[in-house]
Amino acid sequence: WRTGLTPAAAVAIGAAKHSGRPVLVDDRGSVTYRELDCRMEAVAGALVQDADAPDSVAILCRNHRGFLEAMAVGSRLGAEVVLLNSEVTEAQLARILGRHRPDVLVHDEEYAAIVDSSGFDGQRVVAWHDGATNATTLDELAEHDGRPAPANHRTGKLTLLTSGTTGLAKGVSRSVNPVAVAESVATGMGVLRLREGDVAVIPPLFFHALGFALLLSTLAVNGTVVCHRRFDADQTLDDIAEHRATVLTGVPVMFQRLLAARKERSDVDLSSIRVALTGASPISPGTVREVMEVFGPVLVNLYGSTETGIVSMASPQDLLDEPSTLGRPGIGISVRILRDDRSRCDVGERGTIFMRGGLMFEGYTEDGADTPEAKEVVDGHVNTGDMGHLDAKGRLYVDGRDDDMVVSGGENVFPLEVEQVIAEHPDVDEAVVLGVRDEEFGQVLRAYVTLAEGCDDPGEQALRDHVRGRLEKYKVPRQVVVVPDFPRNATGKILRSKIASD
Ligand code: ATP
Repeated sequence: WRTGLTPAAAVAIGAAKHSGRPVLVDDRGSVTYRELDCRMEAVAGALVQDADAPDSVAILCRNHRGFLEAMAVGSRLGAEVVLLNSEVTEAQLARILGRHRPDVLVHDEEYAAIVDSSGFDGQRVVAWHDGATNATTLDELAEHDGRPAPANHRTGKLTLLTSGTTGLAKGVSRSVNPVAVAESVATGMGVLRLREGDVAVIPPLFFHALGFALLLSTLAVNGTVVCHRRFDADQTLDDIAEHRATVLTGVPVMFQRLLAARKERSDVDLSSIRVALTGASPISPGTVREVMEVFGPVLVNLYGSTETGIVSMASPQDLLDEPSTLGRPGIGISVRILRDDRSRCDVGERGTIFMRGGLMFEGYTEDGADTPEAKEVVDGHVNTGDMGHLDAKGRLYVDGRDDDMVVSGGENVFPLEVEQVIAEHPDVDEAVVLGVRDEEFGQVLRAYVTLAEGCDDPGEQALRDHVRGRLEKYKVPRQVVVVPDFPRNATGKILRSKIASD
């Protein structure tokens, strides 16, 4: 966290300016800025009582006060803060901990068993415990009444993990100050417009870029975060009404669940929401329209990645005009669409999305022989791994991930386009289109669909006809398979490779 305000400073400022204001409300009740500031100082003091300040503090927590406290403490001590994916398996955790080697690990009690078997040998602190535990807890450390931690002069660093859509989650580190960036997200881009004292309901997990960006942005505007350990659509609707929440964030599948829950609960008052933020994976134009009908013209779609940070944001007006756009690049960010030979595409022409500026990462954490390859750079612009295009008004569209592209009979097909057309069928909830090997065409398309609630299977032929009426012939799936649900990762992203192997 090189320049400007650190998260620890944001907490201290919040405590000085609004000591009794809740910084966070979770399953246990609310915590004020003053209380968080005291806990941060006490826990930081306890951690350096008989030891050097830790170089790194890893957090393996779901969404609750312990996550925020651990993050504030790590920042207060100038440590590298490593946000671990709380949905990892035992084997993955062992590898990730072996790779990052944190000095202190703050975790929920529910992960005690996998931490035990991971071989972790640093200091363990339990953040959230429901039962008896022998390990040190944040509560115990906070009772420490020794000397406070000395002033911190270290730069600090933040390491996020990617969502692991394409394999083991990669470690992505940067030493820029996230609160300064969060502030610019909150106010400077002119799209999100968070305000002093906003109340933000944040169901996406804090360890992932979207949830974390909102957590920090809310801290930066001295607002209040409302969170729970697990997402529940009815609970989220209740939170909005009870806390008169002004900001709501969710990955697309959460908004789908919220819209479904809302159908049974038309009495819930959602009128306090001023900003609804989505991102992390593609949202269908139908869902965009429905969110705007239910919440009003408040939806913002944020496009970015763990590595690049925010690339662009679509404002409510952008989405009213064009529900599938991802808006214009953020301030100070340059986007280029390049052809395979890396020359520049014309307006409307599809190519690979490259970007420069913003909160670019510094590199992946070393992982032996498996360290991910550095990203391609052309003229200072980094390859995002996504395909897309710009329209005549300079608005960006993502057509899908480079890796997902299917070549059928020599034609390039972007599954996302076909998926969105299939999902417009009234009987369909979601669709995933994959390429399957074919003697004649190289690859042909196979669609997997889930049905909308209460709808019967319209039949393969009806769905193929639906696509045929709207897209070129080579984009019509050869087969359509109805499935009960899709496998997803912790961020709600559909794991396409898992469908293919099933
Ligand atoms: P891994 O790198 O481990 O496979 P991942 O790529 O899913 O995981 P993230 O950094 O979380 O890791 O995801 C970034 C990707 O998510 C982007 O490159 C893009 O494909 C997709 N994405 C992000 N935001 C949006 C959005 N608003 N609309 C469509 N796609 C998005």
